Amino acid sequence: MKVSEKTQAISPEFIARVRHKIATNSVQHFIGGEFVPGVQGELFESLDPSNNQVLARAYKGHAEDVDKAARAARAAFEKWKLNAKARKKYLLKIAEVLEKHGDELAVMECLDAGQALRIVRAQVARAAENFSFYAEYAERAMDGRSYPVDGEWLNYSIRVPVGVCGIITPWNAPMMLSTWRIAPALAFGNTVVLKPAEWSPLTAWKLAEIMQEADLPPGVFNVVQGFGEEAGDAVVRHPDIPLIAFTGETTTGSLITRNSAEHLKRLSLELGGKSPAIIFEDADLEQALDATVFQIYSFNGERCTANSRALVQEGIFEEFVRRVAERAARVKVGHPLEPDTEVGPLIHPEHLERVLGYVEIGKQESQHIFGGERVGSEGNYVRPGLFVAENHHRIAQEEIFGPILTVIPFKDEADALQKANDSRYGLASYVWTRDVSRAHRMALHLEAGMTWINSHNVRHLPTPFGGVKMSGTHREGGEHSLEFYTELKHIAVPLTEHPIPKFGK
Ligand code: NAD
Repeated sequence: MKVSEKTQAISPEFIARVRHKIATNSVQHFIGGEFVPGVQGELFESLDPSNNQVLARAYKGHAEDVDKAARAARAAFEKWKLNAKARKKYLLKIAEVLEKHGDELAVMECLDAGQALRIVRAQVARAAENFSFYAEYAERAMDGRSYPVDGEWLNYSIRVPVGVCGIITPWNAPMMLSTWRIAPALAFGNTVVLKPAEWSPLTAWKLAEIMQEADLPPGVFNVVQGFGEEAGDAVVRHPDIPLIAFTGETTTGSLITRNSAEHLKRLSLELGGKSPAIIFEDADLEQALDATVFQIYSFNGERCTANSRALVQEGIFEEFVRRVAERAARVKVGHPLEPDTEVGPLIHPEHLERVLGYVEIGKQESQHIFGGERVGSEGNYVRPGLFVAENHHRIAQEEIFGPILTVIPFKDEADALQKANDSRYGLASYVWTRDVSRAHRMALHLEAGMTWINSHNVRHLPTPFGGVKMSGTHREGGEHSLEFYTELKHIAVPLTEHPIPKFGK
């Protein structure tokens, strides 16, 4: 995802039109190719994080809505699974239509999720890329192997789609994280029921419009809005949804694992993190500083792969802390639609409370260096914060999911490794050193699904993405998504007459 330094503003007239659309419509489910109200007719409110006023009203999905969506998806699957060429055409069309509606998606995501425009624009581009990448990839990837057995048998394997995929997404990057799952699921021949997060329902609604405009056959893509404990749980427990791709909190991931056990569902869980950036004295300090600051404060700190723990070697520790504090003080906190905003408001007043709660814990337990306070009295704005802590402190161990960096000193490589791995999480890690062997040694021993050496988090769709420990259970991306969203079947054909035991003759 490429975040540009400058982004173009969106005109006030266009923003007003999108606001009008949101204010004058209820956000409906999308089932069997049509927008429909919820079976029970109940609505819930989604707030604008910049002022906590009601932004949108959406239908609250229940088990009946999920059942309708699962049945529509199941019916559509029979045809969708057969025609790979058509799937490629549709996915390329979705990418094109999505780009065409990029500004509307961007406005919705800024208003609904509080993410800054420059971040959201990069996410729109990534969302389109998710579809175009898998359109091309899937066409070539769904092959198999043959296993000739002594001239007597020809066994071979093929890949077939799994069926209806339940995709449950969080609120921090709704459009990017949902399309990252929807695109491969559809490309490999599955159909989808999406349950977006209740704090950010809007871009899933728009995505359904995009699917309609791309003429996607009815039932191939469905959205049920609503709460996790109702709509989400119904997806998890539905017998006709054999696969769940979930992104969200670790505790929710383990609950979903338990609740889906009855049907032995295939699960891919992308969960929380407390990822370390490990900065050695020989690192390129300017680059390490840029990356560490960007990786914790961008996305409002609501980023699963954020380097929320900076482990810094003693010799450069003081300088590093001082310079991060200077940068944190200059980070532009502002309305998400302002093009120069770097940090927008946190998603919801409840999440604001949680983040401010951690700031208080940090002030008692650790050394407060800068920021972390609420900005203004309207909306959920927080000044980027900085603490010096010990690795066992709560703010060094628990996921805050806000713009708060915890910096921890280390002595040498062994100390850095011990501290980095002393965490229940294992999503990403970042190593900054000019010593090539040490960089690779660290990468080998770090308990993390992903390590970036002398780099910030630059994603590449074919490369495996996912975490270890309490950060996740699977890898997705390229061939790893192929494995997850398809079944591998073995088919055996005898080439000669072969003896069969004759029971009961
Ligand atoms: P969350 O777990 O509260 O909710 C995520 C989704 O799950 C929402 O759609 C919610 O409605 C649904 N849900 C909640 N309870 C459910 C249940 N019992 N059954 C089924 N669905 C249920 O997470 P969140 O607060 O929306 O998101 C923030 C979390 O997501 C953070 O922990 C963050 O690290 C994580 N995250 C991880 C990644 C990754 O790739 N590893 C990416 C982004 C976010």
